[in-house]
Amino acid sequence: MKRLAATLCLLALCCHAAAAQAVRPDDARRLLGVRLGAEVSAWLEEVEGKLGREVYAEFAELDAPDAGGDYTLGASYLTRAGVAVVRVDESFRARGEQQTRAVIAHELLHLRLRARGYPLFLFSPTVQTRRGPAEDVEQEHVNDLVSMIEHRVFAAEMRRTGFDRLIDLTNGLDAARRRGRTPDGQAEVLNYARASLEWNDARLVEEFTAVYRANGWTRSLEGGRRMAEIIRAADIRAPTEVAPVFLRCMSVLYGASFRVEPDRRFALAKIYPQMLIYAERPRGRR
Ligand SMILES: [Zn+2]
Repeated sequence: MKRLAATLCLLALCCHAAAAQAVRPDDARRLLGVRLGAEVSAWLEEVEGKLGREVYAEFAELDAPDAGGDYTLGASYLTRAGVAVVRVDESFRARGEQQTRAVIAHELLHLRLRARGYPLFLFSPTVQTRRGPAEDVEQEHVNDLVSMIEHRVFAAEMRRTGFDRLIDLTNGLDAARRRGRTPDGQAEVLNYARASLEWNDARLVEEFTAVYRANGWTRSLEGGRRMAEIIRAADIRAPTEVAPVFLRCMSVLYGASFRVEPDRRFALAKIYPQMLIYAERPRGRR
């Protein structure tokens, strides 16, 4: 699963050759029984046109049984065979068509970046942490970071279509409040950056800031702010522009330097590059 580089998108992320053709409003496509409309259908057609296969979509329970709520709204990835998969949390069956369409559209925007050659990032097996290999214990944080950078890349489309207003990402506020004065880590840095970049409500971000202070998470607060600044200032218009932004965020997240190199053995390299992350050794120790 790790080698497939599934990006789970914390919004918080079938097979026949599809001919790419202009979408007319009267033949807008459906996924999961939801009519997508002309623009989202065009995103779907672009992904299927590039991959040469239909997107596979399903409802699924996306949160762990002990998560205590529905935090993950959608997820998407490409299988090793090059099939794009969209998964929507099953809680959306009851939330109706509009919200389900917003999550599907969001995941299609992630998949469209894959189809356009935007990279994913995977810890090399050589990177170790005190808790074990980074590919086992830290990859989820890297996936979150990449999702957040991608959200910035397609933020204008989410806003213009109004989908951003249909998806509530602010349930992290209560979760942080419940945590109280417990140790913080990479997840708290990422959650603060996400709130700062994506919650369209300054008052709620202020509340979130107050919770971080009360919990003693001042380093995560500072790191999250710096990361949000880096991502906010980035103006990514091409796949090759992602890695420098990613590496700057990684140095905030871990207080260490990394470099990335394309994974030459990656099965889907013809579609998009998978970059392997290596720790930079301190000077003089090479
Ligand atoms: Zn996402």
